[in-house]
Amino acid sequence: MNMPKQVRRYCPKCKKHTLQKVSIYKAGKRRGSAIGERRHAEDKKGYGGQKFPKLAKAAKTTKKITQILTCSECKKKWHKLGIRIRKMELVAQ
Ligand SMILES: [Zn+2]
Repeated sequence: MNMPKQVRRYCPKCKKHTLQKVSIYKAGKRRGSAIGERRHAEDKKGYGGQKFPKLAKAAKTTKKITQILTCSECKKKWHKLGIRIRKMELVAQ
């Protein structure tokens, strides 16, 4: 699905419509030292280590894609509610 790189949209901070840059949100790198990661690694150790069944067949064929909107005037970033599509491409219009 093609999406425009720039949109004219309401900015709640500027309280008016401004030109906003669109980018796609990507999850950050997982830290091995995070408490959840350490606990999970500890639980998985040893005999009978797998705590929950591994997902054999995923029910969904798509993932939710979140867009980040950056206001060109105040530089504030907003997340747009994710929509389910296979692939999103940003194109200049
Ligand atoms: Zn703004």
